[in-house]
Amino acid sequence: MTDVASNLRAVQQRVAFACRRVDRPVESVRLLAVSKLHSANSIREAYGLGQRDFGENYAQELRDKATQLHELAEIRWHAIGPLQLNKAKYVAKMAYAFHALDRVALAEELSKRRAGLPLLCYLELNLGGELSKSGIQVSQLSAVLEQISPLPNLKLAGLMCLPPLSPDPESSRPFFRALRELALQHGLKELSMGSTHDFEVAIEEGATVIRVGSAIFGERPGA
Ligand SMILES: *Cc1c(COP(=O)(O)O)cnc(C)c1O
Repeated sequence: MTDVASNLRAVQQRVAFACRRVDRPVESVRLLAVSKLHSANSIREAYGLGQRDFGENYAQELRDKATQLHELAEIRWHAIGPLQLNKAKYVAKMAYAFHALDRVALAEELSKRRAGLPLLCYLELNLGGELSKSGIQVSQLSAVLEQISPLPNLKLAGLMCLPPLSPDPESSRPFFRALRELALQHGLKELSMGSTHDFEVAIEEGATVIRVGSAIFGERPGA
């Protein structure tokens, strides 16, 4: 087996174990393979193994890869990184979902540019209070939801967070738990949370989408 094949299988097994620990069906967790900075061939390989959801951080890279890999008919592209207004068109045109919605103006632009099926969106929350990070503050959540909900070409799926980096996966748990509480309070079903170092904790705390890059594709080139 190649690295991608054995890595993907190992991640799937860890997902299954985590689900079993908390008595969740394995189908309740969607694995998003984060392919940013990895080659189109790595994506083809994972697709060949049955992987359908892929995450990209940079709008132009997503556009280029989606164009290059258009023969992968069932692929779903998820844009997961911070997005500038002038690049929203690439995400609106190419993506199935956007996980880093963090302001109303961006939501309006995406809705305006979207045609066809609504773009599935996750509101990113800044739970760590880190000034350097994107994401809306909890205190703004209700107001932002109210403004975004009426937009015709977006469908609000749920919430997303990226806890402060820490070597200990357990330190993400309070953030994941807080995100789940907020989703519950606002009647949102989906939770996009957990990456390579903390996805098992995220699953235990109710993640419905996990975003896993290096555990599948290895270290990112140049990262
Ligand atoms: C890169 C990235 C990931 C994946 O990170 P890994 O540590 O490689 O699993 C997940 N979420 C976001 C928002 C990212 O930018």
